Amino acid sequence: MRNLVVQKFGGTSVADTDKIKNVANSVIREKKLGNDVVVVVSAMGHTTDYLMKMAKDISEVPSSRELDMLLSTGEGVSIALLSMAIQAQGYDAVSMNAMQIGIITENVHTKARIIDIKTDKLNKYLSEGKIIVVAGFQGVTEDGEITTLGRGGSDTSAVAIASALDAKRCDIYTDVEGVYTTDPRIVPNASKLDVVTYDEMLELASVGANVLHPRSVETAKQFNMPLRVRSSFNLENRGNLIKGEYDDMEICRPVTGVAVDMSKVRIVVCDVPDEPGVAAKIFTTLADEHISVDTIIQSYARLHNNTNDIAFTINKTDLPRAMELFDKINDEIKADKIHIDDNIAKVSIVGAGMIDRPGVAATMFDTLANLNINIKMISTSEVKISCLVDADVANDALRALHKAFNLGCDVIATVKGDLPNI
Ligand code: ADP
Ligand code: ASP
Ligand code: MG
Repeated sequence: MRNLVVQKFGGTSVADTDKIKNVANSVIREKKLGNDVVVVVSAMGHTTDYLMKMAKDISEVPSSRELDMLLSTGEGVSIALLSMAIQAQGYDAVSMNAMQIGIITENVHTKARIIDIKTDKLNKYLSEGKIIVVAGFQGVTEDGEITTLGRGGSDTSAVAIASALDAKRCDIYTDVEGVYTTDPRIVPNASKLDVVTYDEMLELASVGANVLHPRSVETAKQFNMPLRVRSSFNLENRGNLIKGEYDDMEICRPVTGVAVDMSKVRIVVCDVPDEPGVAAKIFTTLADEHISVDTIIQSYARLHNNTNDIAFTINKTDLPRAMELFDKINDEIKADKIHIDDNIAKVSIVGAGMIDRPGVAATMFDTLANLNINIKMISTSEVKISCLVDADVANDALRALHKAFNLGCDVIATVKGDLPNI
């Protein structure tokens, strides 16, 4: 471990030139504390959404290679401007994109995983005392093709760079003061979690707490990299820490947080033959195209015609490609029809403390029933329960679940211990 901190600033933190100057101040502040600094930045404001919209205006299913060429440009603007802002204050800074560094990813477009990060140039610049400003979200394949890591992926760039450089910490600066029991924009009395474990944060991020990209937490866990989430706009607040384990002997709350995910669409493959190989065909076809599948339900076989339905959820962005694939394989799977439901949301409760604690699922279902909310699908793991509901009632469900599990800041004054110094 060395005296190096990696900082990451998201889109809202670099939304205009004044905010970029503010970020430069935070970077210099860290440098003045005696640390080497590598800064990872996202595209300014809603740039990536805007680029995406232009692509969709031109083609309904744009080529994923060209999408990556387009989307990766956003971060290029931020790194150059931030580097200039740091230099304008008399500090030595250099901007670098993924190609210049060698952030090597697998050969997959729009959701590539990082395989390796070359550290020679980074180390050279650090040894010269430079602050390095790195473009998040982007990568490059061994063959020199530009890739991106998936929406929100700059968090993962930052943690991967911190791990590759053996940094002492990775600080994620964003537009809220840390990770809360739920999205504080939807539930204003959400409580800030002072310390969260990698496992709980991974579950929370995977079910929609998009304050962190799930793969950034996965990488932090793998390399045991302490992650701090804090506000770009209030440096007095030290945010929160995500690390290996709680210091308490036994976790006392059954549920740590609740989340909603509006990014999914449900596909129901209706009336497929109830015979071996059908599910395998559907899911290997999707997997071969790197389409991840979430909750899966297969209905009982209907005895009169020996068919069943297979329902599952995928990301909305993968829907056009998935439909093309279903057209191709339908001769083999013989589905009567494919039903799409895109007005859905997934609400989830997460907590390591729910293991072996009866009644947690019952409380969740009861809370939704009291709001007259119909549950369309349920999936569970040891530390999570998710229900698929109509999108229009999802935020009401979130608020009610947050209340039912006593997560409001009026109920729990302090969540977990003091924030340790690292
Ligand atoms: P950035 O541009 O900095 O990457 P994001 O928009 O990706 O920021 O993530 C920050 C947002 O995450 C917050 O504005 C908040 O609305 C949302 N969010 C969702 N769940 C949570 C949670 N549990 N705690 C904090 N923020 C959350
Ligand atoms: N700019 C990318 C996005 O909007 C990556 C990121 O912000 O993390 O998804
Ligand atoms: Mg983000």
